[in-house]
Amino acid sequence: MKAEIIAVGTELLLGQIVNTNAQYLSQELAAIGVDVYFQTVVGDNMTRLQEAIRTAQSRADIILFSGGLGPTQDDLTKDAIAAVLGRDLHIDRLSMDKVEGFFRDRGVEMTENNRRQALTIDDATPLKNETGLAVGNALVQEGKYYVILPGPPKELKPMFEQEAKPWLLQHALGGSEMAIYSKMLKFAGIGESALETKLIDLIKEQSDPTIAPYAKEGEVTIRVSTKAASEAEALIKLNAAEVQIQQRLPEYLYASEDVPLEKVIVEWMGRLGLTVGAAESCTGGLVMEMLTSIPGSATIFKGGIVCYSNEIKKKLLNVPHDYLEGENSPGAVSPEVAQVLAEQVRMIMDSDFGLSVTGVAGPGYSELKPVGLVYIGIAERGKKTEVHELRLNGNRETIRIRSAKAILYRLWR
Ligand code: ATP
Ligand code: MG
Repeated sequence: MKAEIIAVGTELLLGQIVNTNAQYLSQELAAIGVDVYFQTVVGDNMTRLQEAIRTAQSRADIILFSGGLGPTQDDLTKDAIAAVLGRDLHIDRLSMDKVEGFFRDRGVEMTENNRRQALTIDDATPLKNETGLAVGNALVQEGKYYVILPGPPKELKPMFEQEAKPWLLQHALGGSEMAIYSKMLKFAGIGESALETKLIDLIKEQSDPTIAPYAKEGEVTIRVSTKAASEAEALIKLNAAEVQIQQRLPEYLYASEDVPLEKVIVEWMGRLGLTVGAAESCTGGLVMEMLTSIPGSATIFKGGIVCYSNEIKKKLLNVPHDYLEGENSPGAVSPEVAQVLAEQVRMIMDSDFGLSVTGVAGPGYSELKPVGLVYIGIAERGKKTEVHELRLNGNRETIRIRSAKAILYRLWR
């Protein structure tokens, strides 16, 4: 079953509101195994709306409409559909009682145009509106299914959930509920393209389950999806695909659900009773922000120092003057400084791990070093301190996020 969503409203075309109804409906349809092939947006205009309906008829089996069911002149959706289908409209008695009751209860005189909210296309099933006045409609004609929903999300969602979805399942989907199930695999320490290269044959050739990568700053998500009649049946396929992927990239997979790396770290350290502190230069506290955004971080995160200036690096973290200044000094962005910062902050915080980040986030060079050059240090109680050099691409914001994620990845490894 192929579906098209037609969102009606000039406000959408003007960019005054965002088409969240299409997003919601697409997600809901995917969950019941209906493939959405097109999302259309059209203004409150009779000619163009009819044109959009005819186009959708040529390429979809199910057409869902959002918006334009209200009382005013610009609300034309039902009229346009009725015209294209060659049907008439009538006032649905129950819906009209509701509209009249609404005004009576408030002691307000009902203007005539409010009757439009009870309009129903002949032989359509009225869809009750629990949270508003305009009635929805569902109907079948020549093997095509039409579902007409109001624009306000707080009306559209309950109407879809309680009225339209059961109607679709019964009429268009023959009662069988093939749902799409998916699993999110989360990776860190590897870029999207490198990861894709390692899985390219699976991504390209495998159609069940499908494997698709998505990148967010410093993390890559792989979504593995399949259609199945039950969750148990889906899980067998999804788990097999996960094993296959994990075997190729064992060192980068950190979770089999959609969680950020910092959450996995907080849980892991919490379980083992480990603690961490951080000294951050170019990330300005981002590592600490990521860790402390996770509930439960109090048990693992002791504290940190944002040592943005050389003065503070020297005064609070004991970085030797000649590491920072002077002709032959390595400079603030150097492995030497990353090491001292990590070791010192670990001692100050009396934690099991000390993290440090120092680098050039840009724009523009610093100490004649290129943008994206970052050193991260990890000092661990009783062990030799690790320092890694990163050469990152991106703008200031992405370099900062990637640096923070990179050190969290190294810590987790
Ligand atoms: P009303 O009775 O409120 O006029 P309606 O069914 O005629 O409802 P519209 O007039 O098209 O719907 O839109 C009413 C409001 O609903 C918009 O101002 C907007 O806030 C919201 N809305 C409409 N369409 C969408 C959409 N596609 N996504 C999100 N919100 C929407
Ligand atoms: Mg309206």
